[in-house]
Amino acid sequence: MKLTEVFKQKTVFSFEVFPPHGKTPLVKIKQTLEELEDIHPDFISVTLGAGGTGKRDSTVEIADLIQNDLHIPAVAHIPGLYQSKKDVQGLLDQFAAHHVTNIMALRGDRVPGHEPVGDFDHADDLVKFIKQNGDFDVIGACYPQCHQEAKDIATDIRFLKQKVDCGTEHLISQLFFDNQCFYDFTKQARQADIIVPIEAGIMPVTNQKQIARIADISGTPLPEKFLTIMNRYVDNPEAMRDAGIAYAIDQIVDLVAHGVDGVHLYTMNHSQVAQRIWAATKTLFEASTTKPV
Ligand code: FAD
Repeated sequence: MKLTEVFKQKTVFSFEVFPPHGKTPLVKIKQTLEELEDIHPDFISVTLGAGGTGKRDSTVEIADLIQNDLHIPAVAHIPGLYQSKKDVQGLLDQFAAHHVTNIMALRGDRVPGHEPVGDFDHADDLVKFIKQNGDFDVIGACYPQCHQEAKDIATDIRFLKQKVDCGTEHLISQLFFDNQCFYDFTKQARQADIIVPIEAGIMPVTNQKQIARIADISGTPLPEKFLTIMNRYVDNPEAMRDAGIAYAIDQIVDLVAHGVDGVHLYTMNHSQVAQRIWAATKTLFEASTTKPV
């Protein structure tokens, strides 16, 4: 079934995983995925680093495992900035050969001192290319707190609408810790006639190292409530993990009650964290066939 059809039937619950860093063997992520299988997520997406070259084979292999061994729809990420049309076509051919038909089309972040190839300046160029060169459903990224390079949220949403009009079938948001900003963003997107499903990206923060990186990614100050909780348990890793999981659960309960289209969990490859979140929220998702509009 196409993912867009799944959104019509229920509140979607999905995961993101990434290929292992450095020399970590693929067997570790395979084990993680097998542990996530029992949750029966609606899809699992697998990232591909901005350079777009180093871990291509791992992304293909992991997407293949998700799609064909676990029988869960796989979404393969492709960042375009540092890839030529030929590179992207090569990847699309590999995904098609493995029956992976959902692609997350991204621009990718700029790598300082590394000149982009120039074939895909923005994600919408890549969306058009993918649509013209294969039979794929395309997903795109969106930013409830505005993309860091955009002049303002209105401009960002104007470009988002352009990306959707090029054939993007659903959107997944950047992580956020204040649900109100997601509700405000969704309202503005709907007013701009963006009617495709918008999934909320939720990251359970389970260790100190993630916090600085998150502030960097989200590009805006983290909410007081979140910082107070994290600062309180900075010297107690176990309590910090529990607090991070509880915070994510609290966000998800509120989002599902508000009728969100879906929740995309940035698992950080931690299957136990995902399992705990699922155990606490599964009845909400199961009850969502009657979701409010
Ligand atoms: P775009 O949609 O191109 O937007 C980028 C900026 O350009 C925005 O400011 C936008 O307003 C502006 N813009 C858009 N279109 C135009 C246009 N036509 N003309 C002028 N300006 C325009 N990165 C990776 O490298 N690999 C991954 O696997 C990955 N996965 C991600 C998953 C999610 C859910 C998210 C939210 C991000 C992910 N990223 C990933 C990061 C992403 O590549 C960066 O955030 C990047 O800076 C922007 O990508 P985009 O696809 O949103 O770009």
